[in-house]
Amino acid sequence: MTRNAKTSNLGYPRIGANREWKKALEAYWAGKINEEQLRTEMEQFQLSNLRKQQEAGIDLIPVGDFTYYDHVLDTAVMFGIVPPRYRYEGGPAGLDLYFAMARGNSRAAACEMTKWFNTNYHYIVPEIGDIQPVLTENKPLAAYRFAKSQAGIDGKPVVIGLYTFLKLSKGFALSEIRSVAERFLPVYVQLLQELEREGAAWVQIDEPAVVTGLQEEDIELLGHIYGALHAAVPGLRIMLQTYFESVQPLEALLKLPVQGLGLDFVHDGGANLEAIERLGWPEDKTLGAGVIDGRGIWRCDPEEKLALAERLERLVPEGKLILQPSSSLLHVPVTVQGEERLKPEVRNALAFADEKLAELALLKRALLEGREAAGAQWAGAKAALDAFRKLPERNRSDVAELERGLEELTDRRNTVYAERAKRQQDKWRLPLLPTTTIGSFPQTPEVRQARLKWRKGELSPERYDEFIRQQIAESITLQEKIGLDVLVHGEFERTDMVEFFGEKLDGFLFTRNGWVQSYGSRCVKPPVIYADVAFTEPMTVKESVYAQSLTKLPVKGMLTGPVTILNWSFVRDDLSREQVANQIALALRQEILALESAGVEMIQVDEPAVREGLPLKEQDRRQYLEWAVRAFRISTSLVRDTTQIHTHMCYCEFGDMIDSISDMDADVISIETSRSHGELIASFEQMDYDKGIGLGVYDIHSPRVPSVEEMETGIERALRVLHPEQFWINPDCGLKTRGWSETEASLRNMVAAADNARKKA
Ligand code: GLN
Ligand code: ZN
Repeated sequence: MTRNAKTSNLGYPRIGANREWKKALEAYWAGKINEEQLRTEMEQFQLSNLRKQQEAGIDLIPVGDFTYYDHVLDTAVMFGIVPPRYRYEGGPAGLDLYFAMARGNSRAAACEMTKWFNTNYHYIVPEIGDIQPVLTENKPLAAYRFAKSQAGIDGKPVVIGLYTFLKLSKGFALSEIRSVAERFLPVYVQLLQELEREGAAWVQIDEPAVVTGLQEEDIELLGHIYGALHAAVPGLRIMLQTYFESVQPLEALLKLPVQGLGLDFVHDGGANLEAIERLGWPEDKTLGAGVIDGRGIWRCDPEEKLALAERLERLVPEGKLILQPSSSLLHVPVTVQGEERLKPEVRNALAFADEKLAELALLKRALLEGREAAGAQWAGAKAALDAFRKLPERNRSDVAELERGLEELTDRRNTVYAERAKRQQDKWRLPLLPTTTIGSFPQTPEVRQARLKWRKGELSPERYDEFIRQQIAESITLQEKIGLDVLVHGEFERTDMVEFFGEKLDGFLFTRNGWVQSYGSRCVKPPVIYADVAFTEPMTVKESVYAQSLTKLPVKGMLTGPVTILNWSFVRDDLSREQVANQIALALRQEILALESAGVEMIQVDEPAVREGLPLKEQDRRQYLEWAVRAFRISTSLVRDTTQIHTHMCYCEFGDMIDSISDMDADVISIETSRSHGELIASFEQMDYDKGIGLGVYDIHSPRVPSVEEMETGIERALRVLHPEQFWINPDCGLKTRGWSETEASLRNMVAAADNARKKA
């Protein structure tokens, strides 16, 4: 038994148990509170987050992870990395400048925002250019002092590592990374020296970028950076923190002159543990052992975690083990308290941020004093998990039966594309360059209000249905008037493309308050897949059939695909993601057959989130794409030759995915192109894409109405590479965030542009 082990946390959710943080920010932006009020509120949130971690008994509490918007933006601003368009003149950036970079202002556009590794968190991309960094304020130091003076906490400052910071930034060529690093080293040194002088025991330096795979030059750069930092602050204990996947090769990090290395033992596929057992653990280093899942929402199996902790403990020297979550808890909701509406077996199986901290404390106790000492809590944890595992809806024999058939299941259309395309053309007789939209039409306040009233019981289901039918009817009339060739019903009955299906399929649940930050003040409440997913009854047939009954033109049925439903939900962790994707795919397969037999024979299955599930390491991507694409085909392959399957993806950087996209075998795909038209077309040219394809001809993210000429030029450009017979004309994405007036005007121009292009083609 150990004499010594500590617990640590890597980061705590900012948003507050009731999204107080979000509300304060938005109140400030709306001018309802002033800067001083905002700062006061923010300090309170920060303090209460610290106290919660203190009360949970965590030994090393992170400080400096709290932010007013985004921690990457904080880092950039702290180093004076402010693009010239904001006319920044040095010194600590004020709040206005800070928020302008995040959200834009009347003079300058916002900085770009992008996904934080493989999570649904988005960060503001630093634009380094040739700015010379200076330490304008030491934010981690301020946070360290705050925690000490306000709560008596000797916190662990958190800093984004230089290597990761540079990998996430733009404004320089990758070949210059070494010299850019050189520019930054002095400010990192200064920052760390100030922390050392203040007496910080540990500093957590986050380097998640290392898990994307290390090449020779990366290893060299890391060696250079950490060599320089060590030389400047030899006495400071640096925990080089990685997360989200395994480190490969781990040897590279074991050699760095840092006192601690933090590794993820949950999402590493076993590779980190295997590497330590093979290589041995260096005598001089502390292991930050990410044993509790920092991203998932499920209670851990205490016995399994204890076994892991004991195994790790044997591998590292006495007193050099720290138990911690696998990543920052930023990616999970705050607390399960308040979820009383869920049935107890499920509720007790959930662990959000606060519950995870409790799990850590319990695990430490069991490791140090034995599981008997952990007593009733230990037994309780095991019993809760047991009850959850036994729930009949997690062990359905009918779903198991379907899954057994998966291997032999046909996931291919009856006929190859070229063949069925002919039959489809005979059936549909579409004009050259057919026009369509992506699915949703404006969700006006009227639509949202009606739904809210219906949910509250203030509007009867019949009246609500009637309201939706009326919306559909109006949109069909309008689409005919505009002259579109393939219509949609408009998705007025859906708030959200995943929630809508989650509510109708078995296996999902919805929390009351399970919010996580997506970007800035925007939070999302992902559905939770807690049990076997299964089809119960048709989900979209009613609206689609009604819409089709109103017109002679084809109306596309509209579904969300299996991979998107998976990637935008919290998923049970006892099955592989592939298994869950297949369960969803089997359920959607039934929906698609139901649509087809009800006479809906053009069906769009949206997959905007396929890219979000891509593993961080190149080498793991093929396998993911294989099962993701198969799940799509399981859903869509059973239809008749003449039934036309469409899909939609809303991003454009997928040069590396084009083969997989073709392999989905959708008859028509529409994709977003507004931001990198040329590049995208070039990648399709290279691979000789032969199926139907619509490259969005205008950007729906702004209310601007594009001119006919502008769209015509875009179409002509695409037609230099793609055949007129395969090209579709549509906007970039769904129109639900737009107003009706610009929607109608833009679509009219789009139809006119298509007419002109047809004449020339
Ligand atoms: N059919 C959906 C819509 O139009 C697609 C949304 C998306 O791609 N995110 O809203
Ligand atoms: Zn889209």
